[in-house]
Amino acid sequence: MIDVELESVSKRFAKSGDAAAVDDVNLTIGAGEFFTLLGPSGCGKTTTLRMVAGFYFPSAGNIRFGGQDVTRLAPNKRDTGMVFQNYALFPHMTVAQNVAYGLKVRKVSRADAARRVAEALAEVHLDGYGPRRIDQLSGGQQQRVALARALVIRPRMLLLDEPLSNLDAKLREETRTEIRRIQRESGTTSIYVTHDQAEAMAMSDRIAVMQSGRVQQVGTPREVYHQPANAFVARFIGRSNVLSLPVAAAEATRVDVVLPSGGQVSAGAPEGHGLREGDTALVSARPEYVTLVSATDADALRGQVTAVEFTGMTTHLTLDVATRDVATRDVATRDVDTGGEKTQMTVAAVDTPERIGVGDRVG
Ligand code: ATP
Repeated sequence: MIDVELESVSKRFAKSGDAAAVDDVNLTIGAGEFFTLLGPSGCGKTTTLRMVAGFYFPSAGNIRFGGQDVTRLAPNKRDTGMVFQNYALFPHMTVAQNVAYGLKVRKVSRADAARRVAEALAEVHLDGYGPRRIDQLSGGQQQRVALARALVIRPRMLLLDEPLSNLDAKLREETRTEIRRIQRESGTTSIYVTHDQAEAMAMSDRIAVMQSGRVQQVGTPREVYHQPANAFVARFIGRSNVLSLPVAAAEATRVDVVLPSGGQVSAGAPEGHGLREGDTALVSARPEYVTLVSATDADALRGQVTAVEFTGMTTHLTLDVATRDVATRDVATRDVDTGGEKTQMTVAAVDTPERIGVGDRVG
């Protein structure tokens, strides 16, 4: 069941000249879905969310909630709960007063409000914190109060704008798990804005990857990771090697490309890719599909190890290959030395990938 629909939505700000902050965005979000708008700073995520909230009206296009047009409806008529990066709590009020705020505005009786505030605080694991002052709480606790305040009004939709940005790395991870648990339990349709791809991947049912006001791809975390629609998505989500390689043969959903070594590999390609023999294709090779092979293997790309990053579970290698493209590889247990500036560089060989999408055509 579709809960939110954005149809050809654009936003131009008077001051920013011709460039649209949001440019012809089409999205459908299902009831109960956790949907993320992901992209680099300035790509239009916040502007899109603000149009859904009603803080901005689109310059063109329509927004519907449950099939009903809300394009020009005032924010307080839309029944959405918002959670912001800076919490936006009232510092002079207690936790309970903050959470009760939306209920008071809605003229919910005192007794009902007290019960619902207690329930909402329990939901975010802050039972008993009601009488505390906001400045007596940690950042993570404050963000959970903000979440309780948004949820207590039982909104039809939860809108979250970079809610974890002010938290340190460990707390971010804990809080994202919490947010997702609470969202699952309440079943509230949620739209989440972040520039952090790991966060988006970990939390979302589906992700819209945005760049320059436009949606580049919509898909599940697995889809955007394994079948990036273009080079931007391939580079933005996770690590990726994007290589320009000549096409030797093309089929509906696969193409064979020629490696610099002369060997050929087959790569998955999106339907309607339009590539033909002789074209150059951008091939995205995830580090985990680049396998290290013997340096004597004739088909392999030869490269020099220029960086080794040990992360615990895997080691990330960066290799400088003949084409000047840098390939990377995660290995579980291998000990490899970086050449560094002073010592002899370790020569390795990489076998390019069996799979992963082909993106844009080049030239
Ligand atoms: P960030 O992660 O940095 O918040 P974002 O992806 O959320 O970025 P937006 O805040 O939506 O991006 O901004 C998109 C574009 O619109 C930017 O170029 C920005 O400068 C511009 N913009 C946003 N708000 C306004 C405004 N009120 N007036 C003029 N231009 C704006």
